[in-house]
Amino acid sequence: MSDIRNLTIGVVGAGTMGRGIVQLFAQAGHRVHCFDAQSGASAKAIDYVAGMIGRGVDKGRITAEQFLQIQGRMHACDAVLQLADCDVVVEAIVEDLEIKRQLFRELEAVVSDNAILASNTSSLTVAEIAAACARPQNVAGLHFFNPVPLMKVAEVIASVRTSAQTVATLKAITESAGHRAVVTADQPGFLINHAGRGLYTEGLRVVEEQVAGPSDVDDVMRDAMGFRMGPFELLDLTGLDVSSKVMASIYEQFQHEPRFRPSSLVAPRVAAGLFGRKSGEGWYRYDSDGRKLAAQAREKPALAAGLQVWIDPEASGLVALRDMAAAAGAQIVADSSNADLAVVQPWGHDATTRALALGLEASRCVAIDPMTPFALRRTVMLTATTTAHARDAALALFASDGVPVTLINDSAGFIAQRVMATIVNIACNIVQRGIASVADLEDAVPLGLGYPRGPLAWGDQIGASRILSILRAQQEATGDPRYRPSPWLVRRAALGLPLVTPETQR
Ligand code: NAD
Repeated sequence: MSDIRNLTIGVVGAGTMGRGIVQLFAQAGHRVHCFDAQSGASAKAIDYVAGMIGRGVDKGRITAEQFLQIQGRMHACDAVLQLADCDVVVEAIVEDLEIKRQLFRELEAVVSDNAILASNTSSLTVAEIAAACARPQNVAGLHFFNPVPLMKVAEVIASVRTSAQTVATLKAITESAGHRAVVTADQPGFLINHAGRGLYTEGLRVVEEQVAGPSDVDDVMRDAMGFRMGPFELLDLTGLDVSSKVMASIYEQFQHEPRFRPSSLVAPRVAAGLFGRKSGEGWYRYDSDGRKLAAQAREKPALAAGLQVWIDPEASGLVALRDMAAAAGAQIVADSSNADLAVVQPWGHDATTRALALGLEASRCVAIDPMTPFALRRTVMLTATTTAHARDAALALFASDGVPVTLINDSAGFIAQRVMATIVNIACNIVQRGIASVADLEDAVPLGLGYPRGPLAWGDQIGASRILSILRAQQEATGDPRYRPSPWLVRRAALGLPLVTPETQR
């Protein structure tokens, strides 16, 4: 297939994904044949897609003539045999290995010897589908995201026997339709679902350890780190019934890799029907229109006059901390033993550990997360013994200029440090394992997961050696191998190299 323009593309399965794929390729100038096992479903899908494309005429994005041309390129089929002249067939049927294998056998028997067969599977191993075929070199994954026309990324899954030519052709066709095509190995979760694990697993672990509540985790990740939604808001949107299966399946497929170990908090909630928006209650509660019900706001303590504050001279945000304490009318003291409140800013360690290391009175100590931008949201961490008086003094002080404050219990690495270090570590290991290139990983994550930037660029902004020290401190504090750093991160941090690197320097 030297020319990838004006191809004939088959789409099997006319459901949610199939319809989107038909629209994408028809708009890109290809002839599209759509087949579905259910009688009349493909014709209905083509009408639906035509309706979607027709909206572009109403909005002046395409002319009536262009619409008719696109419509004329879409054909409903009522038998697999009608896909015989397809250059590429994309399968988007039910997620069932045996049914997919049967379909691929039927397809291979009717298409030409060099036609490409691609599966839109989200969780099956492409090699298991390809193994049913006589020409596995022509079989690959082509994983789109819902809604296909708007989610501008697709994963081309190069399975163990997929030819380089098949990968290159699928990539070129997808990119000519305006989507970024990223190449990934045939590994659990492929690239994007794999890279997205950290936000959920570490968010759940923070709640499981009673460090903070779900809304605290969401507030920090959304307001301070710039995520569109926090992990619990996302879980409520997707539905915990669906997400719990993905979490379990990726963990199983990775042979119980501790980094992906699902939380034991999930199963009882699924059993109780707390799925999220669709069931009216998940981590949050929703009204009958699906709107999140607001939680009761915590009462704000008043700032006591003459509060004496000691600030760790090694704090990363020393100047900002001092300025805001002084502006609030607190008195900054040089001797911690005289202070009502001692403020520390540890990276990776908990407040108790930092207080002990500095010889502070832990009952009068709190920690402030140095990772979250000071002007956006502040996380105040208590030691295991901080008094209510010191806690209220800290809450009053750090909220005195109107910036929202999240209060958490003692934890090695605050919410943001833990979640960000986990996301960056998983990304480093994706590169270590050759699952995707740095460039594909960095483009795929913002496009597929909606994160504000690529995970390695984020790691560079925080600093590779700082991410490494957070992971090592967490590993030391918990003994949990989930925090063991990727060798790729360890080496780059040791060499002082950035994480976003040209391919030649991998
Ligand atoms: P869907 O249920 O909306 O549609 C599936 C369609 O396939 C149905 O119309 C059904 O009649 C048809 N079908 C079933 N068996 C068939 C067969 N043997 N031959 C021909 N047609 C058959 O499903 P969907 O959500 O579009 O998902 C399709 C595939 O895409 C699955 O593999 C799924 O895992 C994957 N996927 C889904 C999403 C998503 O968000 N929905 C995202 C990425 C990937």
